[in-house]
Amino acid sequence: MRILVTGGAGFIGAHTSKALAAAGHEPIVFDNLSTGHRWAVKWGPFEYGDLLDRAALIDVMRRHRVEAVLHFAALSSVGESNIRPDVYYRTNVLGTLSVLDAMKDAGVGQIILSSSCAVYGIPEKIPIDESALTDPINPYGSSKLMAEKMLGDYARAFNLAAVALRYFNAAGADPDGDVGEEHSPETHLIPSVLQVASGIRDYVNVFGSNYKTLDGTCVRDYVHVSDLANGHVSALTSFKFGEFRSFNLSSGCGYSVNQIIDRARFITNKEINTRILNNRMGDPPVLYANSNLAKSEINWIAKRSDIDTIISDAWSWISHHRFKVVCS
Ligand code: UDP
Repeated sequence: MRILVTGGAGFIGAHTSKALAAAGHEPIVFDNLSTGHRWAVKWGPFEYGDLLDRAALIDVMRRHRVEAVLHFAALSSVGESNIRPDVYYRTNVLGTLSVLDAMKDAGVGQIILSSSCAVYGIPEKIPIDESALTDPINPYGSSKLMAEKMLGDYARAFNLAAVALRYFNAAGADPDGDVGEEHSPETHLIPSVLQVASGIRDYVNVFGSNYKTLDGTCVRDYVHVSDLANGHVSALTSFKFGEFRSFNLSSGCGYSVNQIIDRARFITNKEINTRILNNRMGDPPVLYANSNLAKSEINWIAKRSDIDTIISDAWSWISHHRFKVVCS
């Protein structure tokens, strides 16, 4: 299939472009490079453009005779979303609306949205499944839930086939070293921890140590970015016109911030200094999920998401491949 990948120069979009190409699809990347990288676009044509420019989206969809859209382009930092909700709603909500309207005008009927475990807020039951209440506690999660609702309404009204993949914490890097995580500034836990191990920063902040968890720090479900990428390829086969469906993509295991730092010390064999700060606003204490629905409906399971593999692949990227790829 010819697939428009919005945000295909970003972390998950670029890994997914590689997986799409490997499965025989053609990824056409549409990205404004605000957070993504031109060097990360290697598996198909690149179209520079902004999500809010609906005419540009329509033009790209028509010129490339696009059959489906994978919509990654979004802002994704919980902490930042508390400070800049305006920018988050504009990019994530209005951006998605622009994509949906462009699809309607260009006659494209299938879409997969990058959604997030942040739509659940503080879950009543762990592990989380898709029947759980969605009640986000930060603007990022709210923006993703609004985008999901729009997909559902458009699917029913305009006979689209729409899927939301609710990622838990995306981490790791391509095992071949072709692409990896590169944010500026880096805010996510695993790459921040590895930046300390590689000497790029002096210490990692630990946001809160008094949560009601095993060691007082937040627990998250880390899922390998290559597994997420394959989840999109699998989901392409599950489209049902007129329907919206959502699936968790998770490893099923929860690790605390301190546990991640300990595993990173072990894997890198480096000192990793920490500094305890106050809780970060909008952080649920514990998030981990089951992906049974993805297994039964789209035949997806996480294959590379044990925590040591995730950290090792991310470490390999940051310590061996990053410089080479960025300069190539
Ligand atoms: N976290 C932390 N220090 C950091 C970055 C993150 O303690 O420098 C914590 C954060 O509070 C959360 C977990 O690590 O509990 C994962 O955060 P991240 O930003 O990686 O992903 P999120 O869960 O926000 O999507």
